[in-house]
Amino acid sequence: MKLIPIPAFADNYLWMLHDGKRALVVDPGDAAPVMRVLKDQALQLESILVTHHHADHIGGVDALRDATGARVYGPAGERIPAPYEPLSEGDAVHAMGLDFQVIDVPGHTAGHIAYYCAAPTPVTSFSASSPDEPEMSDKPLLFCGDTLFSAGCGRLFEGTPAQMLASLDKLAALPAQTRVCCTHEYTLSNLRFALAVEPHNADLIAYNAQCVKLRERDQPTLPTSIARELLVNPFLRTRQATVKTAAMHFDAAAHDDISVFAAIRQWKNQFK
Ligand SMILES: [Zn+2]
Repeated sequence: MKLIPIPAFADNYLWMLHDGKRALVVDPGDAAPVMRVLKDQALQLESILVTHHHADHIGGVDALRDATGARVYGPAGERIPAPYEPLSEGDAVHAMGLDFQVIDVPGHTAGHIAYYCAAPTPVTSFSASSPDEPEMSDKPLLFCGDTLFSAGCGRLFEGTPAQMLASLDKLAALPAQTRVCCTHEYTLSNLRFALAVEPHNADLIAYNAQCVKLRERDQPTLPTSIARELLVNPFLRTRQATVKTAAMHFDAAAHDDISVFAAIRQWKNQFK
């Protein structure tokens, strides 16, 4: 089994899992780049997993379903191109011989879901720590759409800071080695902000240098891992003293978990 990010638009990755014959794709905002990979590698698309209703995540769903007959899965609480199988927390998807658990992660949108696969069969992927050497492993997989990014999180278009914090807490509690497949290559701009929040975080400084090199070579910084995000992502670190203090410089009223999170999110929205 292989995990590949198919680049689309300016900075999206349409994540694909395939075994040389069958394929699954997550959030296909555009059908064309997915169709190219299916054709080049003679793959049959079986399943389409959708995390939320934004156009850059669903734009290619109808065309791919029509062309391949793939089964579509998506959040029960959002408008996804029908027909699709509506899902919410506690549901499971069996696809490509893998079991994906559905996690409700409201915040970026009201009905956003994530897909977690605890024990995939060995899956080959490239990662920021092995950009040239594909890594074959059975580490868990997470497809989290626009909820968690490397060193960042999605904007709160439909949810509250309390909802987003609770959603990120669920993802942060997944196993540390989980491969986190986010939809956007926002890592470098997120890191500029993260370094403004925690300029002395040594893990952050080292990770930033690593990601700058990867992007100079036009390589993805993803997937990331829960372990790394706990070290570098200000939105998973809002209970750390350094992040709390920085939040209070931005908003003196920030005092508890939710107001600190809200302050960091607001600061990021304005950050240039
Ligand atoms: Zn979105």
